[in-house]
Amino acid sequence: MDQVTLLVVRAIESGATTTKSIIDATGLSRLKAERALQSLEKQKLLFREGQGSWALGIPVTPTVRSCGSCSLCCKVLEVMDVGKPVNQVCKYSTSGGCTIYNERPRMCRSFSCAWLQGHVDDDWFPEAAGIVLHFSLDALNVQVDIENPDRWREEPYFSKLCELSLRGIRVGGSRSYATLVIVGDQKFMLLGRTIVPEPTLFGTAFFPLGNDTFRYWKAQSLEHLQRLGERVAEIQRIQHEFGHCAVPDNDDDDPHAPYRPALLELTKQMRV
Ligand code: SF4
Ligand code: SF4
Repeated sequence: MDQVTLLVVRAIESGATTTKSIIDATGLSRLKAERALQSLEKQKLLFREGQGSWALGIPVTPTVRSCGSCSLCCKVLEVMDVGKPVNQVCKYSTSGGCTIYNERPRMCRSFSCAWLQGHVDDDWFPEAAGIVLHFSLDALNVQVDIENPDRWREEPYFSKLCELSLRGIRVGGSRSYATLVIVGDQKFMLLGRTIVPEPTLFGTAFFPLGNDTFRYWKAQSLEHLQRLGERVAEIQRIQHEFGHCAVPDNDDDDPHAPYRPALLELTKQMRV
């Protein structure tokens, strides 16, 4: 998936579901946004929902468990077609199940959480954990029940999220994914044990500092992301050549080519 399409996917996942709101959120031209929407539609990854809004349609994945008494996704997820905001129990959800089961929206039909699919063990039963994990096109989403907003930082959850996040980073290519934690209107991205607050739609460049910790820089545009990525590549080259390279701070986040002189100078300063 190219960067523009990825940006459109992230915008939709963040709640921009009309073409205008996608353009507003991404800064893309109408032509580019529409091309990306058409390409996603052609791949059957995007649909027009009943109210005329865009919705991502992840292919239904076979499940290995059954929901049982759980109905947490009917509370924590947003379902626009029934006017349901995040973290509010759906008006159709009862102790006996969904009262419009046969007519429930496409999003509800295609949804199955990562516990149901067998990606995590029994500790993650959503009703007990207060967390719904689910995969979208390019992300593992960790939707946390607002009644227990810090549950994801506790064990055994945090260590497992770090492990899943590292897997998503290291798997590479089209199978890589970001790990996003959503708690009410707060969003965090996990890079192993490093927590990135409020990641932007444009992406985050990062560099490993250890096995499971990272330095990161949040991009403010696609061009910015490209420059940050080029600098990361230069850091790798210098490390390969000289065995060491200083890694700029998180807030030094607007580099311009040529990157090498500034990196070598920073490395020299840090050695003095
Ligand atoms: S959160 Fe998962 S287990 Fe619970 S009802 Fe939804 S799909 Fe089923
Ligand atoms: S419509 Fe039914 S399945 Fe969908 S969120 Fe509401 S109760 Fe759950």
